[in-house]
Amino acid sequence: MTQTDFAIIGGGPAGLAAAELLSQHGRKVTIYEAMPTPARKFLMAGKSGLNLTHNEDFEQFKTRFGAALPHMAQALDDLMPMDIRRWANELGADTFVGSSGRVFPKVMKASPLLRNWLKRLEKLGVTLKTRHRWQGFDGEKLSFQTLNDTIAVQHDAVVLALGGVSWPRLGGNGDWVNYLEAIGVEVAPFQPANCGFEVEWSDFFKEKFAGAPIKSVSATSKMGSQKGEFVIAQHGVEGSLIYHHSAALRDEINAVGHAALVLDLVPDQSLDKLTANLEKQNQKQSFSNRLRKGTKLTGAKAALIREVAPDANKMPPNTLAKLIKALPLPLTAPRPIKDAISSAGGVKWGEVDANYMLKKRPGLFVAGEMLDWEAPTGGYLLTACFATGRAAAYGALKWSIQK
Ligand SMILES: Cc1cc2nc3c(=O)[nH]c(=O)nc-3n(C[C@H](O)[C@H](O)[C@H](O)COP(=O)(O)OP(=O)(O)OC[C@H]3O[C@@H](n4cnc5c(N)ncnc54)[C@H](O)[C@@H]3O)c2cc1C
Repeated sequence: MTQTDFAIIGGGPAGLAAAELLSQHGRKVTIYEAMPTPARKFLMAGKSGLNLTHNEDFEQFKTRFGAALPHMAQALDDLMPMDIRRWANELGADTFVGSSGRVFPKVMKASPLLRNWLKRLEKLGVTLKTRHRWQGFDGEKLSFQTLNDTIAVQHDAVVLALGGVSWPRLGGNGDWVNYLEAIGVEVAPFQPANCGFEVEWSDFFKEKFAGAPIKSVSATSKMGSQKGEFVIAQHGVEGSLIYHHSAALRDEINAVGHAALVLDLVPDQSLDKLTANLEKQNQKQSFSNRLRKGTKLTGAKAALIREVAPDANKMPPNTLAKLIKALPLPLTAPRPIKDAISSAGGVKWGEVDANYMLKKRPGLFVAGEMLDWEAPTGGYLLTACFATGRAAAYGALKWSIQK
């Protein structure tokens, strides 16, 4: 029997995970990557602390994938968060669980883990061809743009792991959509996910507070309530608490043109206590003094109240307390997809079978962020990329044996 010759296109976490599984089964694997080096987004993810997975209850973990879960559940069951921690540990990157349940390598960075992962793949005999940008099909062959040439190569089975469209300068720009649509594959339009939002700040507020962190607040949207922090940006708001709510806020803006993120600026104080504290203040004092003494709110947090509700200074204590506990921050639009952490949309689930093979192109499998799912930050994105990468590779392996 001749050995099946596998191609992986895209050298991000999903593609590398696929290559690892196939090469561990003794298969010949070539990775084609558009950029001069692989996994640039993975490395970028490590700049702010590489959140590999999450330690929460696994049933809860899986709910993070929303409507896409039925299509991903098996892949997630086959690569659980503990497996990822074990894998990272084997590659010399011991992990720890942060206070929020997020799992990070102790060094926080991605580079040592990636270096050892690539070394492992090399030892397993995987060939990595960089500066090879896939540009569709040439009959049965795959067409690539290299530095100086256009080449066409033939492989028996192919895993596409070309990523979403956020941060296109790291390699994934969604060019693959054209090539798949050309063979009749439907792709759900991309949308920003885990993104910041535009707020029409006054010039005064922007100049004074852009860059200021807003810590220890709670935010509520259709996603529920979550405590955390965010940052005031020139254009609006950014940061983990905003990203957590971004899918619900984006969908609301799509539906009605605007959305409000409801902030509790003092989540540790009850409404009654806050009202009582504000009532104790001499109403003749300046607004900022009343706030400082009655609520301990100062700086950007205090300024946010007047920015959102300019007549807050005229409110009686009980109304002001209610406002501070439920300040509706008006958002006008999500930030552009190029600046988002990830993208929603991608190859529609109806286009792939249970083994992640395209129904319209047997032998061609799809994995990672290029599939139509989204999840919040918290390690869910990388977990799903590793898991679907392995699942698609396993699908390719089974297909190659059966055909
Ligand atoms: C700033 C930032 C921080 C993040 N932090 C985290 C985090 O802490 N935890 C987490 O879970 N997730 C995080 N993410 C998200 C995570 O990095 C992505 O979800 C993940 O990298 C997607 O993996 P992928 O393999 O599907 O695609 P990608 O990582 O995008 O890899 C796709 C690869 O395919 C290549 N490619 C694209 N088109 C072609 C083509 N035509 N021909 C050949 N090659 C091509 C690209 O160059 C790229 O190397 C972060 C993202 C960003 C931007």
